[in-house]
Amino acid sequence: MQTLNRAYFEALDRDDPLAAYRDQFDLPAGHIYLNGNSLGVLPKAAKEKARQVVEEQWGQGLIRSWNTHDWIRIPQRVGDKIAGLIGADDGEVIVADSTSVNLFKMAAAAVKLNAGRHKILSEPGNFPTDLYILQGLEQFLDGQVRLVTEHRDSILDAIDEDTAVVVLTHVHYKSGAMFDMAAITARAHEKGALVIWDLSHSTGAVPVELNRVGADFAIGCGYKYLNGGPGAPGFLFVAKRHQAQLQQPLSGWFGHANPFAMRDDYEAAPGIARTLCGTTPVVGASLLEVGVDIMASADMHQIREKSLRMGQLFIELIEQRCSQYGFGLASSKDPAVRGSQVSLTHEQGFAIMQALIARNIIGDFRAPDILRFGFTPLYVRYVDLWDCVDALVDIMANDHWDQAAFKKLTAVT
Ligand SMILES: *Cc1c(COP(=O)(O)O)cnc(C)c1O
Repeated sequence: MQTLNRAYFEALDRDDPLAAYRDQFDLPAGHIYLNGNSLGVLPKAAKEKARQVVEEQWGQGLIRSWNTHDWIRIPQRVGDKIAGLIGADDGEVIVADSTSVNLFKMAAAAVKLNAGRHKILSEPGNFPTDLYILQGLEQFLDGQVRLVTEHRDSILDAIDEDTAVVVLTHVHYKSGAMFDMAAITARAHEKGALVIWDLSHSTGAVPVELNRVGADFAIGCGYKYLNGGPGAPGFLFVAKRHQAQLQQPLSGWFGHANPFAMRDDYEAAPGIARTLCGTTPVVGASLLEVGVDIMASADMHQIREKSLRMGQLFIELIEQRCSQYGFGLASSKDPAVRGSQVSLTHEQGFAIMQALIARNIIGDFRAPDILRFGFTPLYVRYVDLWDCVDALVDIMANDHWDQAAFKKLTAVT
């Protein structure tokens, strides 16, 4: 293994085909941001878009902007752009609600499509909201379906003739472990089950080919790798073949075939629009579009290549420079099954992360002992990895993490 030094990382930045993208983002000076897997950074163009939407479209256009600025079509328009990022077709993806709400709609719809089956299958340790939403649905349906969780290594075998729907997060939020979407989808279909893929940590981070693997449903998040802004709306995917039969429980007026006919009786819109519930959060969805446009202009294979290289180098740096400090590796070393993050374990993980954040090197902590470092190739430089680990070495060698201020738990970690 070669000995790494800062000059090596600087040279990688000089050769990086994605390097120019960094200038499209408004990163605060002197910051290294390794948390784009949790909240993406502000695109410079989003600031101007926010001003336009608030001052001009809302302020001056008022209610006319539903037509003059096409607010009414934002869910479909931005959805079609996201479709291009995840291997879906026009009319299969729509921007709506939050990821949690979209999961509820999709899981209820899938259970209904596969009536007579009793099992919803997921994994223990899936993202909490995913499990909570499924538990809520289970209770709401009074035992008609039950949630069963199986360890990720035995998921394939756990899919059986009683499984209505499999709900999995493609890239795990803590470890970055990535499921084989094609294999699991194929097995589910063999057994007559449907699959909902949560793409929160995948969209904009790893190549996803929903239609190539024959996916049924997917949901995902707008504020992580898509850089849509805090609380940006989520999105969902329904394969064309399921749309005509799809019934979802939140049958609000935006999902109606003709919302402005103002009829008493619900009639589901013919296509993906039937998954909408109520009024689009126009400001949030407009800002999401800015992030999606940037992502859509980049080459996903270059993104994946850079992110894997960053992960690999980060792991090598930790091995070379931090081996005596008690870190464990919670992510796989095999790039084929790793998303766009590397997670370390340490019993003082929370305090160590706070010490890094105090130096404007921002990752995050997930209980009980995980330090997460997310690699977002559009604005993170190779040299940032060197500087991050350099700071980590200093924090560990001099026990800088060992201060009361770094041990005080915050509401959001
Ligand atoms: C971030 C994330 C969510 C977020 O759900 P919200 O409804 O936006 O709070 C859901 N699922 C997974 C797997 C996530 O990573």
